[in-house]
Order: sequence, then structure tokens, then C-alpha cells
Amino acid sequence: MREDRINKTKTVCTYCGVGCSFEVWTKDREILKIQPDSEAPANGVSTCVKGKFGWDFVNSEERLTKPLIRKGEKFVEASWEEALSLIATKMTGIKETHGNDSLGFISSSKCTNEENYLFQKLARSVFGTNNVDNCSRYCQTPASTGLMRTVGIGGDAGTIKDIESSELVLVIGANPAESHPVLATRVKRAQKLNNQKLIVFDLRENELAQKADLFISPKPGTDLVWLNAIAKYIIDQDWHDRTFIENRVNNFDDFVDSLKTYTLDYAEDKTGLSKELLIKVATIIHEAKSMCALWAMGVTQHMGGTDTSTAISNLLLVTGNYGKPGSGGYPLRGHNNVQGASDFGTMPAWLPGYEPVEDDKIRAKYEKAWGTTLPKKPGYNNHQIVEAINDGKVRGMYLFGEEMGLVDSNINYVHGSFEKLDFFVVQDVFFTKTAQFADVVLPAAPSLEKEGTFTNTERRIQRFYQVFDPLGDSKPDWQIFQEIANQLGADWNYKQPGEIMDEAAKLATIFAGVSYDRLEGWNSQLWPVKEDGTDTPLLYKDKFGFKDGKARLFPVEWTPPYEPGEEYDLHLNNGRILEHFHEGNMTYRSKGITHKVPEPWLEVSPWLAEKRGIKTGALVRLKSPYGEAEVRVWVTEQVKGKELYFPMHTMEEKSAVNRLTSSYHDKVTHTPNYKEMSVKMEVI
Ligand code: SF4
Repeated sequence: MREDRINKTKTVCTYCGVGCSFEVWTKDREILKIQPDSEAPANGVSTCVKGKFGWDFVNSEERLTKPLIRKGEKFVEASWEEALSLIATKMTGIKETHGNDSLGFISSSKCTNEENYLFQKLARSVFGTNNVDNCSRYCQTPASTGLMRTVGIGGDAGTIKDIESSELVLVIGANPAESHPVLATRVKRAQKLNNQKLIVFDLRENELAQKADLFISPKPGTDLVWLNAIAKYIIDQDWHDRTFIENRVNNFDDFVDSLKTYTLDYAEDKTGLSKELLIKVATIIHEAKSMCALWAMGVTQHMGGTDTSTAISNLLLVTGNYGKPGSGGYPLRGHNNVQGASDFGTMPAWLPGYEPVEDDKIRAKYEKAWGTTLPKKPGYNNHQIVEAINDGKVRGMYLFGEEMGLVDSNINYVHGSFEKLDFFVVQDVFFTKTAQFADVVLPAAPSLEKEGTFTNTERRIQRFYQVFDPLGDSKPDWQIFQEIANQLGADWNYKQPGEIMDEAAKLATIFAGVSYDRLEGWNSQLWPVKEDGTDTPLLYKDKFGFKDGKARLFPVEWTPPYEPGEEYDLHLNNGRILEHFHEGNMTYRSKGITHKVPEPWLEVSPWLAEKRGIKTGALVRLKSPYGEAEVRVWVTEQVKGKELYFPMHTMEEKSAVNRLTSSYHDKVTHTPNYKEMSVKMEVI
């Protein structure tokens, strides 16, 4: 094929927070190949299987190409005019009858920064509510909150290069080899080339755990106990970084007081880890000149997810591991743009750039720019929106790019809530499970059919460019929001996403110097970005994110995990596998992925399999107090004893792990306790 007939367009992967960028080579609508480039700032020439082969969904025959309107039990195709006019009439009607806060808005961490900015602007300035949230509520809000409590900024402390250059990496409740594969390769490389030490804490012996210097498996839900015990032991040994604490950290004495309970004996009893092992870990931490801590849902999706995230950051502060290369806290962002969705304001208490809605001066700034009056009180988060639907307080909802009907916890309950809505708009690339509950379904264009920016786990903002025209009548999400706003009397005139970014940069201090010109091609910027364009790869070099510039040790107490009762005798862990992403609406429609892994499975230990007479391939039914699910078994030594591991990737409701999970949640952020689940299992 002649090279000049091939289009080469830079894009950014839509599958995880590493934020790999690469070229997509295409001819007409055919994707020929994915070509990485050494210029790519986060990944260089690396990608993983999803980035390479996970794109066929764009041309799937199952794509939504027309707006749909519910007529009784059926959906019928409609024009954009009909659909938008119905949305404007119904949403306005609900607002006028029941008040602004009777509407809820659920945003998408798969969509762009500009789309998230515009969606929260739609909710706040057109509909007058702060009831807007994104899926970080299901995963990373506890981590961001733990960081905000201690270091004042809810983002990763540095870059992937910092992780690579660190002497010691702790991985806690995360499986980067499958969920953040390219980042995991950097850790593996640093082990070989830099002699980096690696300690993995997890229930499951995942790939990185197998390569670690120490793999440690505490009892489920006890991470805060060993973290506090190690912090106490380090202080008791006088191994803490006195100079760093004296100069840069507040609240040391209160923090020391708060650790009294967390003796090695107490930690051994609660975590099942021996005192000798805890001392060994503390000694390795003490001897390392730099340390990074990486964590994910194994930490955050618990009743005490925020407190455990806080304990991680406390340990980093005690040992002086912030503000220098190769140090800091790194919550690994799961979705490609979960960082950006929060950064650009789809959160109930924050305007873009984490500027509080309750601050009169901040609100006045946005009111002036948007020509409207903004609501003052923080809105409902995702979890509270579902509760408020059940209580009759929220009557209308607008959701885009989020398969809430499969990925929220306790989905039987969530589906019941959807059915109670007076009016429900779902906007997506496919007719999802969630869309089945909608009154209007709008066809959206995926990333290859639009332009915009994503922000990766490093706080790195990157541009991607349009490869194809939107399929059928589908449109970029930002255009749809603009059309709805204008139906309701707004006068938005964004001609392209760069203009939306310009507006965000004018308003939100942390984006002051962000612009499409500066982000051209392979360029990127890591927020906060000064007006002159200087960005911040490493945070906290001079000051922390509080007014006095100092960090704050934040005392936290252990919350024992939820136990549903003895009848449910097996602990159910859940998460991702390498090949698939989330519920799988994109990866199961990508042949290059699905021919390798066509369906999810349940990992069962050889010990348990023998006890129950189960072999690989057996179909089992899992039951919890909230529902049941069916899945095939894989007998593997990756799990031990009574531990089960159930990947979350399925578009089939009957095999969805969230038919089993509960509505219990982190007490601070309301993130569901997905990881605290016990079940019983029977062979079908
Ligand atoms: Fe990179 Fe993550 Fe995409 Fe894999 S899924 S190519 S690691 S961004």
C-alpha cells in the first residue's frame, strides 16, 4: 500500500490513566495499525494490548447512530431536534416543579477535559444545581481526599519517571501489570537497571507481586493497621525525618498520640502479618533514600478507603518522602481521564481546578464569566443521587459515557432507582445496560471521532486529534451539551474544544497557562501550569498545597471491614484483567481483544477447588445478601484459600460482579466498598 494514502493521526489511549499516546494509521475508516513514538511523553515506544488492539469498537455495527426516544417498552429513532426539544421540555418541567436539585448529572471519566468542563457548566449555570459527579466516586475520590487532607493537592506527586527513579516502590492494593501495564514495565525495568526495591501488598499474587522483593498479603481490609504500625515503629526507632517534619509538616505531636494503639502486637493480631515481617518492611523503608507509594482500588474501595489513603500519605510524610525526585504518593488513576474529569469540575463541591463552590469569591468569578447565578451548596455525589432518586428528591437525570447500570455497586438496587426516575437521558457510544432504563438515548462520538485533551495519572494534559468523522448522526459530547444549553436559552458558541480549554484556563488558576498551542503534537503540560506556560512535573518542591505551605499529618483510625455474616463463607475480591476495560462495552467489541478473552471467569484456589470438587470450566453461582451471579471457574494459584477473584468485565448482567456488591461505602467519600464482599458458591 502506498504510504501517501495512509493517514497518521496522534491520539491518546482511552483505556487507562497511564495516558499512552501514539499514532493511529488509517485508510478511509479502516484502522491499519497503532504506531507508538519515542516522543510520547508518558510511554515512549511502549503500549499494551488494549492500546494496540482495542479500537475495532469504533466501527462496530452496534454503534448508536441516531437519537432514540422511548415509546412505551420500545425505543424509536428520532431527529436531533425532537430529542433535544424533549430533553429541554422535560428537564425544565422537573426543575420548575421540584426545584433545581431535583436533577442529577453523571459525567464520564472516558470523555475529554473540555466535555467535563462543559457538562458541569451545563448542570451549574443552565440547570442551577451542583448535583454533578463523575466515576472517580467509584474509585479514586478516597485517594484524592487522603492527599488533600495531608499534602493539600489531590493529584499524583510526580511523574512516572519519578516512580522509575525511586529506590523503593510500595504497591498497595493495586495490580499495575494488568491495570496500568506500561507503568508496570517501568517498575520492572527499574528493578533490573537501578536495583529498585519493590514491596507489593495485595490479596492476590499478581504479576508484579511475583516479581517483588517482598509480596505481603494482609487480611482483607487491614491496610490502615499495618501502615499506622509501621509509622509508629519508625517514629519509636527515631528513624523519622526530623528535619523535614520540623520545617515542612504540621501536627506531628497529635499524630504521634494517635498511633498509641498501633503496636506491632496489635498489628500482628489484626493483619495476620508477623511482627518480624512488619519490622523488616519498616527497616527497608528506613534504609531507602527515596520511596514512592502506588495504590489503587484495593485501598480505596473500602469503608475506610479515605483513611487508609491518608495513612499512606502520613507514612510518606513521616519518612520525608515528598518534594524530592523519586518520592511521593501515586494513586493510579484507572480510567484514561478520571483525573481530568475531576480536575475540570464534575464534582459536587468543586468548580474546575478544585475551586470550592462554597467560596463566595470563587463563585463570583464564575458567575461573572458565565453571566448567571450559581448554586452555593455542594450537591449530591453519585451515591447520594441514587439515594435521592429512591427518596423522590431527584426526579430527572442526565448521564453520559458511564455504564452505571453495571459498574455501580449493588446494581439491583441501582436499577430499581433508575426505574423511579421521571425522566432519564443517557448519552453514549453504544446502547448500554444503563440506556435500557432511559427515556432518551443520544448517540455520542468516541475519541477517534473528535478532538480534545485527556489528563493522565501524572496530571499530564495531552491533546488528541480527530481521525474519523462521527458515525451516522452521532456527535461529540461537547457539541450535544452546547445544543442542549442553547435550547434552554444559553448563548454558547464554542466552535472547537480549544475554545473551551481557553475559557477553563482563564478561570481555574491551576490551568492558567494551558493552551492548545502549547499542547500541540506530542507536547504536554502537567498542572498546575503558570500563566507563562511553566508546568509542574514534581509537586511540593517548595511548598505543600495548604495556605501556610506546610503539609499536615492527619490522624486516622481503622474501620474494620464489613462482614455480611457467617453464611457467606468466601471472600470475593474483584478488579480488572489485562485485556479488558471496565464493563467491556469497548473491548468486547474489539476483535483483537475479544478473540483472546471472550468472557470473564472466577479465580478459585486449588485448595478450595479440591474441597468443593470444582474444575476449571465449571459454571458456578455466587450468592451474596444483595443478589447472585453466574460465572465459569479458573482454578489458579494466583488466589489462596477462601479468596475468590472475579474480574468486573462483562456486558452480561447475569455475570456482573456488582449484582453481589453492597451499598455500604467509604464513610468520608461514599465510594462503594466493592472490595468488602463475602459470598457463598454453588456449582450449577
Ligand atoms: Fe497505555 Fe494504559 Fe492504554 Fe495500555 S491501557 S496502552 S498502558 S494507556
